Amino acid sequence: MPELPEVENTRQYLLRAGLAGRILGAPDITWRNTVRQPSVGEFIEGVAGRRVADVTRRGKYLIAPLDDGNHLILHLGMTGSLRIHDAALEPPPLVRHTFPLDDGREMRFIDPRKFGHLWLLDDPAGATGKMGPEPLTPDFTPDALAAALHKRKAPIKALLLEQSVVAGLGNLYVDESLYQSGLHPERTGAGITQSETARLHRAIVTTLTNATAAYDAARDAEWPNPPTALSPWTIPRAKGQPCPQCAAAVQLLRVRGRSSWYCPNCQPAPQ
Ligand SMILES: [Zn+2]
Repeated sequence: MPELPEVENTRQYLLRAGLAGRILGAPDITWRNTVRQPSVGEFIEGVAGRRVADVTRRGKYLIAPLDDGNHLILHLGMTGSLRIHDAALEPPPLVRHTFPLDDGREMRFIDPRKFGHLWLLDDPAGATGKMGPEPLTPDFTPDALAAALHKRKAPIKALLLEQSVVAGLGNLYVDESLYQSGLHPERTGAGITQSETARLHRAIVTTLTNATAAYDAARDAEWPNPPTALSPWTIPRAKGQPCPQCAAAVQLLRVRGRSSWYCPNCQPAPQ
């Protein structure tokens, strides 16, 4: 599932492909359930003829402010990706939605499992909901993380997946951040000490910084078709694989239904 580094990779791709400044034509929406707000008809009418001012991101949401003050908001869901191609180029399979551009190209929303979403809203918060700080900005501090975890009895794995604690993390980067900070996924938020919080904060920032750097390098190397998914984490996600730090076999645990890989040696179970 696309998480912050994958969505940021898509944002950088769209900017480099020149989406900002282009005028959108009437989109072709082939799977109507993707459009969350407003109605499909209003969405198509509201997008057509509008110039894209920029491409920004909040958590896992892509936000394109338009020249009339509205915002085109995209969520890639489980398997979505975006490509800008010459309209004459044969579309790849599983393109669900097409946004014509005024320069003979089109933005194609490829979405095999159809879990992606689209909105057209004056306030992006209507799509994103209440979100915690962006982890790669100065708003995300050890103190902010400590305040969000304070008195929370839920497992840290579940808390970090709550977008209101910190924005943009999903299953993969939460596992990696917990591994890098030596915290078992079932530790409670309230039970994490000050020094552990500082370690966790550093691990989240480092993990996401390394991942976005891997995407930046791949985008440069493989332009104009950069990868949409890499594996820029260190904990193996397969049974019996050795922990890179201590060689113990990594283990799989379900925490509130989410698969969680961890090292039983480097991430000791809560007492
Ligand atoms: Zn280990």
